[in-house]
Amino acid sequence: MQLDETDLMILRVLQENGRLSFRQIADRVKVSVPTISNKIANLEKAGVIRGYSAMLDPERLGEMSVMISVKARPSELKGVAEKLAKDEHVRGAYLLSNCKLLLSCTFPEAYQINDFISRLGEIPEILDYEMGNVIGAIRDDPRAIVQPGLSTVLECVYCKEPFKGAGVKVKLEGKDYHVCCPVCAKGLQEKFAKIKEKA
Ligand SMILES: [Zn+2]
Repeated sequence: MQLDETDLMILRVLQENGRLSFRQIADRVKVSVPTISNKIANLEKAGVIRGYSAMLDPERLGEMSVMISVKARPSELKGVAEKLAKDEHVRGAYLLSNCKLLLSCTFPEAYQINDFISRLGEIPEILDYEMGNVIGAIRDDPRAIVQPGLSTVLECVYCKEPFKGAGVKVKLEGKDYHVCCPVCAKGLQEKFAKIKEKA
């Protein structure tokens, strides 16, 4: 879905202050409250708005941050990432194009760093890793930037690949499904027909 100027303004306003009421957002964006609630519901449904939470400062809480770059074979990198991402100390896990995995980790206690490093050592798929303790967080903003021309990226319900723009809408028993292309639309319809046949 292409984001219009109102969507972008809502996102900007909410990224700055997620605690505003629909009324307050409507006043700032200069549209009606029902429009705001509709648009926010759509942005939430599309997964553009992931949730609402307080931005806690780990430094103020005396916590330590460590950035770790992990190397593994390309075919095993995603599995390693998914395994590590289950650890509560891993706050961000990013698969990089150069066959590396970047981990942003937070540790309330120093001993937890050593424990984590020994857990890394127990994963045989990890070929190598490099780490650095964060000694200054100069900037630590959420990654999304709101700018004109944005459209949402959806996951094709059939092939599971992400796609930009509208894609193809398939209506099955009154419910809308979004797929990336006509081939996937056909695939989904056939899959659905088979499931129905069995039932
Ligand atoms: Zn697809």
